[in-house]
This record gives sequence, structure tokens and C-alpha cells, in this order.
Amino acid sequence: MARHFPLFGCGGNSDSFYAAGHKSSLAACEYLYGLGLSAYEYECTHGVRLSDAFCASLAKNAHDYAISLSVHAPYYINLASEDEGIRQKSILHILKALRAAEKMDAGRVVFHPGTQGELKREQAMANALALLEEAVFQAEREGLLDTVLLCPETMGKPGQLGTLGEVLQLCEVSDRVRPTVDFAHIHALEGGKLQTSRDFERILLKIQHRLGEEAAHYLHIHFSPIEFGRLGERRHRCLLDKGFGPDFEPLAEVLVEYRLAPTIICESAGRQAEDAVVFQSIYESMRQEMQV
Ligand SMILES: [Zn+2]
Repeated sequence: MARHFPLFGCGGNSDSFYAAGHKSSLAACEYLYGLGLSAYEYECTHGVRLSDAFCASLAKNAHDYAISLSVHAPYYINLASEDEGIRQKSILHILKALRAAEKMDAGRVVFHPGTQGELKREQAMANALALLEEAVFQAEREGLLDTVLLCPETMGKPGQLGTLGEVLQLCEVSDRVRPTVDFAHIHALEGGKLQTSRDFERILLKIQHRLGEEAAHYLHIHFSPIEFGRLGERRHRCLLDKGFGPDFEPLAEVLVEYRLAPTIICESAGRQAEDAVVFQSIYESMRQEMQV
């Protein structure tokens, strides 16, 4: 493995980015570079509507400021649906996100697998697996997966497909499908269970066991404090809101211990860039403390 340290960045733009007068995400890479960050997840969560020129400019910025790019696909994807219209649109959202990612030299497209709805869980998963296979087939035919990984995300509500086990199952469709592990969502779904470094280690080892060393080493991670209730995720919080887990320290400890090189995308509400900087500094202190 070539790299032994994580890349830190954020999804979308902080409030401070807009407060500083920026209007276009084309200013994001320089802004993140200025904060010492090195990853950016461009959010197409309400649809992929990007010109080729925009994608090319973002690719150039990312290159100039050494920012690793990923794309978050639209929220409308539902691989479990039995409605033919929704199924076709879900594939189209995935393909459009992959095409945009390819044009901006982004390495990953993150997506939410779908919802269970009225279906039995097993049926919903069987539908999702079959439709993902179809999406992968079409994407491969266009050569889109040559450079871009498709990354289903672990989700925070019980009605959503996307427990860790389900995401790993989806990843077994193709070695170009790799997990996005949103630790906030796992924490919310499991009622606050991510406490110690061993809790994080267990997840990382499970991924390594199921998908291999490289998948675990370069894992795509979402991290932020989260508010949850009986029904899982309520909302993403930021580090200024006190009392919301999961804490980053125990994960940092495992990352240092195993010398892992994930991309860590912070999704804190309104302060994603600022909190990414905090996570990065926690990691750095941990690395010095453990003298690696
Ligand atoms: Zn997401």
C-alpha cells in the first residue's frame, strides 16, 4: 500500500465558505487547500446537472490544489423499488453521477442504496442486488468503472437499506463497488454503540475480511457528530454542539495503529470544513502520541 495516512476533507461547503463571499463550488478546492485539507465530496444530492466545462474546471482545481474528489449521487436512488419508473431512474442517476465523476477525475461516487418500503427486508435486498448488477453492467459498458468506484453508503435509519452487512453484500456484486462507511449513521442506527477503539476496529476488520486488505486500507469514510432517537438518525450536528457522538479519537487510534489511509469526509452541519480540520488535528496528535 503506497499511502499510510488518511486524507481529510468535507462534503459540500461550510457556511463560512458562503459567508466569505464564495458562490461557486469552483472556489472550494482552493478554500480547502487553505485550511490544510485534501479531499472534497461534490454533492449532487438533488440531481446531476453539471456542464462538461464545470466538471473540467473542478478537475483542474482539484489537481492544482491536490484535492481528492468524490461525488455524492442524488438522494432519489432506490435500488429496492419494484416500480419500473423508479428503477430506471435510479440507474440513470447512478450513470449520470458516474459520468460527472469521470469528467472531474473523481475517484468515487457515493450513493444511498434505497428504502425497504412495504417489502420484506430480504425481498428489498434481493431487488437492490439485482438492480445494482444491472447498473454495474451498464456502467461497465460505458467504461465508467475503469476509473471510478461505486460506493454504497451505510445508512442511519432502520427503514433504509444500508446496514454494514447489507452494504458489504452490495459490494460483492463487483470489485468496482466499494463501501462508504458513514460512522455517524452506524452510531445512530445502533443506538450509540460506537464508543471504544475496539468498536471501530471490529468494523474495519470485518470489511478487510469480506472485501480484502485494499478495500479496508483505502476506505471511504463519512464522519460527523449525529443526533439520533429511537428511530435512528435525526440530524447531523457539528462539534460545537456538545454531547453528540461518535467521538473521532477512538477511530483515529485504530487508523494510526493499522496505518490505514482512508478518505475521511466530514459532514458536520454547516461546519464540515472546520470539523474536518479538527479531525485531522486529532489524528495528528494521536499519531505523535503513539509515535508511529
Ligand atoms: Zn450520504
